[in-house]
Amino acid sequence: MDFPTRFDVIVIGGGHAGTEAALAAARMGSATLLLTHNIETLGQMSCNPAIGGIGKSHLVKEIDALGGAMARATDRGGIQFRVLNSRKGPAVRATRAQADRVLYKAAIREMLENQPNLTLFQQAADDLIVENDRVTGVVTQTGIRFHAATVVLTTGTFLGGVIHIGMQNHAGGRAGDAPANALAKRLRELPFNIGRLKTGTPPRIDARSVDFSVMQEQWGDAPTPVMSFIGSRDEHPEQVCCYVTRTTEQTHDIIRSGFDRSPMFAGAIEGVGPRYCPSIEDKVSRFADKDSHQIFVEPEGLTTHELYPNGISTSLPFDIQLAAVRSIPGFENAHITRPGYAIEYDYLNPQDLRHTLETKFIQGLYFAGQINGTTGYEEAGAQGLLAGLNAALQAQGKDAWYPRRDEAYLGVLVDDLITMGTSEPYRMFTSRAEYRLILREDNADLRLTETGRRLGLVDDNRWDRFNRKRDAIAIERQRLESTRIHPGTAQGETADGHLKQPMTRDQSLAELLRRPEMAYPQIADIGGERADDPAVAEQVEIEIKYEGYISRQADEIERLRRNENTRLPVDLDYEQVGGLSNEIKQKLQAVRPETIAQASRMQGVTPAAVSQLLVHLKKRD
Ligand code: FAD
Repeated sequence: MDFPTRFDVIVIGGGHAGTEAALAAARMGSATLLLTHNIETLGQMSCNPAIGGIGKSHLVKEIDALGGAMARATDRGGIQFRVLNSRKGPAVRATRAQADRVLYKAAIREMLENQPNLTLFQQAADDLIVENDRVTGVVTQTGIRFHAATVVLTTGTFLGGVIHIGMQNHAGGRAGDAPANALAKRLRELPFNIGRLKTGTPPRIDARSVDFSVMQEQWGDAPTPVMSFIGSRDEHPEQVCCYVTRTTEQTHDIIRSGFDRSPMFAGAIEGVGPRYCPSIEDKVSRFADKDSHQIFVEPEGLTTHELYPNGISTSLPFDIQLAAVRSIPGFENAHITRPGYAIEYDYLNPQDLRHTLETKFIQGLYFAGQINGTTGYEEAGAQGLLAGLNAALQAQGKDAWYPRRDEAYLGVLVDDLITMGTSEPYRMFTSRAEYRLILREDNADLRLTETGRRLGLVDDNRWDRFNRKRDAIAIERQRLESTRIHPGTAQGETADGHLKQPMTRDQSLAELLRRPEMAYPQIADIGGERADDPAVAEQVEIEIKYEGYISRQADEIERLRRNENTRLPVDLDYEQVGGLSNEIKQKLQAVRPETIAQASRMQGVTPAAVSQLLVHLKKRD
């Protein structure tokens, strides 16, 4: 048969992890096969068509800096963009976009179809070919055997998927899609630790049956934020309004009346759900004192009437869903187009993985995305990129690469997963990163593009634009450091007009910018010059204003790196170490690690605990 069956890398699954994995491996020059159930569902958003948000946009921008697809597709599909936490510090600022799910999917598909070295094939992967603890290929549902040096598995919520609505349930990978049961069975035969998790989605509503006049309007930001470092707002489609409404006490009564038929409370669901994205029945039960919960009413696209009511994910029976929805202001006559549901699926304990996302037991086999116990498109995409690039590196006989915790949120994500594991769906937050001030969304390109270029992930266009931006930042910074303003001159008087305390001596523009009341536009007024690119101005402003904090964090990173091999005395009494939880103390007493590095790799020993150990050692000396 004249049909290609030998590749360098095979990626199974065309969701958010799989598409980034396949694109990365192919960009790096590896002959790559993306094998997925259905080509029509490439890049499909199973839940809310929104990308980014707190902690998550950092991942999206890191994927982008490494040449990935998610941010670019968001710029082409985003129908509302906002910067969250815009009044807070730059470390926690986060871009979020509501996307038109059809446009987003089309953008991903176009990138896949036009990617050199990438072959798409529609078919379920039912089996893995494993020889001497090494994966060598995949067998499809109809028995086609594909061979490759490495395989990346990104099957999302599909392994042994069961969909629940009330006390009824059926097998499914997500609504409308079959589960991957043959592959799930095969993985259970291999030496992996497999558990069950669950996630849920709200009912969708027809906008024509909704009274928006009683809801609060929520428009996107102006000027419209852009997600990709090489994106532009000219790519954005029409921008639309979202709305906010709330549940009422009546809604909560209706929801409580369905508790006895809730698969979650009645024990039909054994998997643990996402703590930070609970179902409405979970919220009503856990926060019984709250008489109302906010609902963001978000359009699913420009060419559909369907709305996504964000905040009322549920697996209650349909009659309860309908009554509860209709008790919400604006939804009195709502027509539900799709019922909400919960899905339970198999996930693999990520402690079975290395930092590259290769499994410890089967060489050449990588896992990425929801299969590793995470939730969210961004977490999936970031892992997909990492697994895909390492699958390509291994296939090419090159050394692996992964970012450290102080280099990227992707480093934090993977390190958390493989050292601590997870027993509930893991999502990213800025609070999970110790070095937040260094790992900002605005500087993801400066942190990672160079590495991406070295790995072969970044094309000439991105590389040129990146270099121009990096040079412009250096030049502008130098200008602000070296331009001095003298009191008593015209420029000095302009400066005094902006300052709380007038100038008493010569000061550089950079020094003036460090004053809390000053921002870049005022400095530009005083100096009579400004950077053409707002992204350059933003970067220079952050670097100068937060210089002290940033260099303190950089010192801490350096110190921790130096301390990696610091020895822990064999007689150390961990009970005496302040600031450690009892659980960590017990683990350390039991294992007695020889070095700080070994301790830091132990499950549950957090970076904060390592800092406490270092402080304790210093006191002992
Ligand atoms: P997916 O996007 O699920 O993609 C998996 C892909 O693999 C699919 O294309 C599938 O067809 C393919 N596939 C699977 N098995 C095989 C096989 N054997 N052979 C070939 N192809 C295969 N995230 C949140 O952040 N918040 C939420 O509230 C939330 N709620 C959700 C609710 C529901 C009901 C669902 C289904 C998902 C929800 N998600 C939520 C999760 C979000 O959809 C996932 O995190 C994200 O899609 C994971 O990406 P992935 O690439 O790992 O998997």
